[in-house]
Amino acid sequence: MFSERMFQLGSRRSSIRELFEYGKMRAELVGRENVFDFSLGNPTVPPPEEVKDAIINIIENSDSVAVHGYTSAQGDASVRARISEHLSRKYRLSVSPDRIYMTCGAAASLVISISALRYCDKDEFVAVAPYFPEYKVFVEETGAAFKTVEPDYANFQINFDSLSEVVNENTRAVIINSPNNPSGAVYREETLRNLADFLCVREAEYGHPIYIISDEPYREIIYDCGEYPSVMRYYSDTIMCYSYSKSLSLPGERIGYIAVSDNAKDSSEIYAAVCGAGRAHGYVCAPSLFQKVAGEVCGIHSDIGVYRKNRDILYNGLTDLGYSCVHPDGAFYLFVKAPGGNSISFGKAAKKRDLLIVPGDDFGCPGYMRVSYCVSTEMIKRAMPVFKKLMEESCSDNIGQ
Ligand code: PLP
Repeated sequence: MFSERMFQLGSRRSSIRELFEYGKMRAELVGRENVFDFSLGNPTVPPPEEVKDAIINIIENSDSVAVHGYTSAQGDASVRARISEHLSRKYRLSVSPDRIYMTCGAAASLVISISALRYCDKDEFVAVAPYFPEYKVFVEETGAAFKTVEPDYANFQINFDSLSEVVNENTRAVIINSPNNPSGAVYREETLRNLADFLCVREAEYGHPIYIISDEPYREIIYDCGEYPSVMRYYSDTIMCYSYSKSLSLPGERIGYIAVSDNAKDSSEIYAAVCGAGRAHGYVCAPSLFQKVAGEVCGIHSDIGVYRKNRDILYNGLTDLGYSCVHPDGAFYLFVKAPGGNSISFGKAAKKRDLLIVPGDDFGCPGYMRVSYCVSTEMIKRAMPVFKKLMEESCSDNIGQ
């Protein structure tokens, strides 16, 4: 006997992973150079040199038992102190070391944060579309209901009319992700202020806090919008889920953290619940060596020059071909309207030409396609004729209808 739910989850890959595995299979059959794989958000820029230097320095100059041994369940105290300092210096946030919990990337941060906020059977967690598809898995695993806010199609900020309909007295938290996967939108300060004002009103109306879970793995990957606007500055009932997967190109090392604002309602109880959820899910003591690396390289991130260049080539190239998409200010995704409007059939037509792009349906945004541009610039250039052909076919009504 086994869990039917876990069986289902394990038997069916996410649509992103499915395409990625398909791409690997096709590369073996037809040659890597003939597959245009834009499916996964796996950084292609190497980690900064400082990461290698930190690893060598830690390994050569520290006691190896301590380097590889368990840290405190919530993470090494000196690492948490450095992160706390960094959040204060760079973003003017008030998060003491005793409100930071080291985790295995953003996924673990989200699972822990959602579990920590679970209160009763009626709980609902709200995600703003377009959203990372795993949110649904993480929320439903706790037994809570997963609710979604309609996308703001004009610019992929927040659709406040829809938010206002979805949030109710059972809402425990609103999950946001900026810079956004898949749209590349970065929430403007005005959007965050409006979100904060809206939730303050609802908190007062319902007589209990509604937290923001802010999923921030792309925080440092912003191109044109200056300083990153941190939602915690505008709304203290915020739990930040951070990861070094993208900012330091370390997705395989599984390292990140949760930060609970010092000024959040029930801040110390929420943090204790985070520690409890970390314990219950077996996420105590995140990878020891990489906690220490994270502490040493605080404030440093991978060179995003290649992503910017890729974005410009892809955005300009696709819009010149007649594709429509919102100009992305961050992350490394372009969210393109499927010509003809049907993302599933357009995705299938692209797949036939070994061009792998992810339909927006699982992101809560049917009719759109995610094109991940953390790939080689050269592959983007080679893929342009395929995008052109697909657009021509869709114009002659062959696909996407
Ligand atoms: N949240 C978003 C929006 C993501 O895009 C990803 C990964 O692509 C994650 C969370 C999970 O990140 P991690 O690899 O750090 O667990």
